[in-house]
Order: sequence, then structure tokens, then C-alpha cells
Amino acid sequence: MSETTIAASASQLAAARVMERADHLADISETPRGLTRIYLSPEHLRANALVGHWMEQAGMRVWQDSVGNICGRYEGEQAGAPALLLGSHLDTVRDAGRYDGMLGVLTAIEVVQALHDRGRRLPMAVEIVGFGDEEGTRFGITLLGSRGLTGDWPSEWLQQQDAQGISVAQALANAGLDGANIGQAARNREEIAAYLELHIEQGPCLEQEGLALGVVQAINGARRLTCRFTGLAGHAGTVPMNHRQDALAASAEWMMAVESITKQHGRQQVATIGTLSCAPGAVNVIPGEVTLTLDVRGPEDEALEALQQALLAQAGDIAQRRGVQFSAEEYYRMAATRCDPELQQRLVQAVSRVQGRALSLPSGAGHDAIAISGCWPVGMLFVRCQGGISHHPAESVMAADVALAIEAFCYAVNAVACGDS
Ligand SMILES: [Zn+2]
Repeated sequence: MSETTIAASASQLAAARVMERADHLADISETPRGLTRIYLSPEHLRANALVGHWMEQAGMRVWQDSVGNICGRYEGEQAGAPALLLGSHLDTVRDAGRYDGMLGVLTAIEVVQALHDRGRRLPMAVEIVGFGDEEGTRFGITLLGSRGLTGDWPSEWLQQQDAQGISVAQALANAGLDGANIGQAARNREEIAAYLELHIEQGPCLEQEGLALGVVQAINGARRLTCRFTGLAGHAGTVPMNHRQDALAASAEWMMAVESITKQHGRQQVATIGTLSCAPGAVNVIPGEVTLTLDVRGPEDEALEALQQALLAQAGDIAQRRGVQFSAEEYYRMAATRCDPELQQRLVQAVSRVQGRALSLPSGAGHDAIAISGCWPVGMLFVRCQGGISHHPAESVMAADVALAIEAFCYAVNAVACGDS
């Protein structure tokens, strides 16, 4: 690596500023108590203005794009060079924490600030984007900000309405934007070289390992299925035990199998039966039909497919042995997003440098990087959060971890932009 990019003392000052700014942004909320900031709301525009101001202080040229993302650019050695894009989102769920999304934008500003303070330019430009919508809180559709950059905003999204009946098109107009211009937010492939996103982990793995930082291997793919065991309802008093076709007993046996089979398929895959309804649902009637949902997730699509097939095969075996029917219908599928191997390697080196070793882990939650990966290579850095809690006011990170994160982020950005080995 060419040189030290930020001193430890400077990273502590930078982390203190990030913590202060996260508090400041948390005050920009629709509700006086708690934090709620939804896409294209007055609070969203105020947050954009403030973040844009901080980007300008870090020496960046700043603009708001046509879907409402706040963007900044710090030129490289040659004006107009391709950019290394850093970012995350500035919108929140309802009654949110103050770091999910915002931490990635605020730490990225510190990376640029460190360059600006030393008058340093990299072979690549560095751009930062604060995405306007990742969570999908307002319109029930997600990643509107990042899909603006990739240019795959379906035109029917403009008609999508919020709970008040306001369409995306109207909300854009209310925010001073024009739905006819959303295509202008799309970026040419050659303008951006790669995307790096820093985010809180939203899970307990780093905390359990006693580590501040981790490197994301992949964002988990997910499938959701509606499953059904169909037996025969009957009199709870008159049908002998060995004559029953009890759909709930079959479901119970399968639920235990789902747990044990998933554990056998490795630590990174998870399966959950989250809902179950039993018919006819009376104390004195043998259950004739049980409907349940299965949610399976994992970082690799092939392994996930193998797990799903194993779980469904087991359900079929149980059903056959018990004389009941089993059926399953998949209603949702999201492919896993693999992080770019070279970017992962850069991040592993950067994280190892600041904390001695790096842990690679999958992301159980979705991120802007999912959309961006359709056009550009993506890498993600995770920061430990207390108790793995997110989407809740109790969301919390330590300033010391944020300082390490800024150091690692600076190393990684330098290494990627300079092409160091
Ligand atoms: Zn997030």
C-alpha cells in the first residue's frame, strides 16, 4: 500500500464527528420522538441539504439527482476519471435507529475529508451517494434510490401510492422533482469503477467474535413458500390413534426436521417457519389441514436450492408415511448477491490491518448494493452493532469501532483507487 492514509488520532476525531452528525440527522424526523424519515418527505430533503453541506465541506461538488439521491464528487488526479462510488441510504423505517444507512454515508464523507485535508488526489475520482430510498417504507417498493443510478426504474413505479394515496409521481413533484426525468439519474457504466458500502451488521456475529469489523461475502438470497399438509379431519374421541391422518402432527414432525436439516447444511443458511394455521381449529376435532410458510435464506443460490429441495423432500416423506398430502408453492425469490472477490480481498486486507484479523460473513438483510451489483462490482464492510439490534431506536455503535471502520475504509478506498496489490 502506498502510504498511511489516516492517522489513528485523526480517525478518532473523524469518528466523533460521525457520531455527532448521526445524532444531528436523527433530529430530522417526521415524528418528534423516535426517528422516521421516508422517501421524498420534507425531512428527506432537509437531510439531503445537510449531508450535501457536509460533502461540500469535504471538498466535493454536490448535486441532488432526479430521483432524490444526494450525490457528491471529489475529482481524481485527472478530471473526469472514473469514480469509486461510496454510499448507503438516508431513509429509515418507522421508529428507526440512527446508524442503519446513515453510518455508511457519514463515514464515506470522512474518507474524502481525509483526502481533502491533505490535498491528496487519487487515480480515481471518489463519489458519495446518500440514497433516498432503500427501506421501501413509504411506497412498499424498495431500492428506489439505487435503481435510479442503475437506470432500471420500471415506469409503473410512478403510479405506486403511499398510505395517503399519494403517487410516486406526485411525491416527486411535491419535492420539486419531475417523474419524466427519472432516467437522468442513471449513470453510464464507464463513469463508475466499483461500489463500496459500509453498513452496521444488523446481526450478532461480530459481537460474538469480539470484532469491530467484518467483510461481507454475499447478501443472502431468499425464497418464501406457502406449504400445506392435508389430512382428514375427524372426531377427537372416536378415531383411534392408528387410523388418523392428522395434518398438524405431520407439520410438527416436519418443523423439527426443518430445524435439524438446516443445521446440517452449514452455519450460513437459515430456515424459518414463521406462520401456521390449523383447520378446522377446534379442541375436539383432529386437524385436517395445516397451512404454513417457509422462509429459507443463504449466501449461495446453489446451496440454498439444495437446502430447499432437502426440506421439501423430507415433507413428502413424512406425508407419505402418515397418509396425508403435502404441497408447496414458492411465491417469492430473491437471488443471492455475491460481493466482488477482488473488492472482498481489498477489504480483508484493510480490516486485517486495523484489527489484526478479518471475519468474512454473509449479510442477512438487503442493501443498496443489491441493485448496484447489477451494473458494477460491489464490496461491503460491516461494523459491529450492540446486540445485533437494528430497525429500532436502541440501535447502537461504539465510537471506537467507527474510528477503526474509517481507518479500514480509507485503506480500502486507497487500495482500490490506486490498484495496489
Ligand atoms: Zn440499511
